[in-house]
Amino acid sequence: MSKNNRMKTNLLDYSLPALTEYLAGIGEKPFRAKQLMRWIHQGGASDFDAMTDLAKSLRAKLQTRAEVGIPALMAAQASKDGTRKWLLDVGTGNGVETVFIPETERGTLCISSQVGCALECTFCSTGRQGFNRNLSAAEIIGQLWWANKALGVTPKNERVISNVVMMGMGEPLANYDNVVTALSVMLDDHGYGLSRRRVTVSTSGMIPQMDRLKDDMPVALAVSLHASNDAVRDEIVPLNKKYPLKELMAACNRYLAKAPRDFVTFEYVMLDGVNDRVQHARELVALVKDTPCKFNLIPFNAFPNSGYERSSNHQIAVFKDILMEAGIVTTVRKTRGDDIDAACGQLAGQVRDKTSRQMKWQQIYLEKQ
Ligand code: SAH
Ligand code: SF4
Repeated sequence: MSKNNRMKTNLLDYSLPALTEYLAGIGEKPFRAKQLMRWIHQGGASDFDAMTDLAKSLRAKLQTRAEVGIPALMAAQASKDGTRKWLLDVGTGNGVETVFIPETERGTLCISSQVGCALECTFCSTGRQGFNRNLSAAEIIGQLWWANKALGVTPKNERVISNVVMMGMGEPLANYDNVVTALSVMLDDHGYGLSRRRVTVSTSGMIPQMDRLKDDMPVALAVSLHASNDAVRDEIVPLNKKYPLKELMAACNRYLAKAPRDFVTFEYVMLDGVNDRVQHARELVALVKDTPCKFNLIPFNAFPNSGYERSSNHQIAVFKDILMEAGIVTTVRKTRGDDIDAACGQLAGQVRDKTSRQMKWQQIYLEKQ
């Protein structure tokens, strides 16, 4: 990137209203913003010269002061099962990962929101790496830009990516503003035009931001529950000490009142001997009795020195049956892309932790809020 470029405005950082305002500031009409959005996000264009239906004078204006700053691609991998993975350069040796999971009825892109994560869930490889920084809106939407460009459309001219889940590296709600901007581009008809019901934010339970999201940008919600009582959750999801289960359930119910879907998805990592016993399943049934929900059980994906074991298939089946008998729709997440380390919690990317090994997450999230 040249010195000149660094001073340019990155249009990938903008939602449609922000782009409209930016163009108004340089004397351009609002409809130009829609055209630009379509070129960038639907046409995969990053060069203003390619945007042939924009007036030459506008293209020239943009060239001097703006850019479509796409994060550079460091590596791309494809698994035998069709899963694809991209590693994007987010500067100073750091990389973040994006994973595409094809299924019969849909194609899901799993997007990262931060370089590392400060929340230190004990079973999560990203959390173990510490926190480096938030991704910009451009770096978040840039993941969809790359994947969309690589995957294109189906023979029926439908987009290959039908669903987006914010379940990659990082805690999306800890990077609230940039995530909301990126979500707005995902949903915009001039952007990626995705349905609110098909865009999911996954959170470890940041209650104030859940409350904001339901008003600002209601999309489908997944909550990483992982435990049936506060004692276990305090241990494995340390954020629980700040936002315990009872309050979390109440926040889920508030969210549901405004959400595009009428249930919350609870993610539940199956850790042998830690949270996978019959008594835990029964406790869970009682915990969620007033919250319309589905459960997604995630067999633990091991990484070196994790200190945990995956629950046996038998234990997972027993656990699932107890929830199902209580009338809760429960699925077990299939592990995809095993051969390219693309499974949940294995997205390691390349994180150079500059702060948080010393600066505890408590300082960042407990004291400053
Ligand atoms: N920070 C957000 C979203 C990213 S993680 C969150 O925690 O919800 C996406 C999901 O993968 C979360 O439910 C997370 O708890 C789970 N996960 C993390 N590490 C895992 C591992 N090693 N095995 C299985 N699931 C894991
Ligand atoms: Fe962060 Fe989510 Fe991993 Fe917890 S599970 S450390 S919140 S990315």
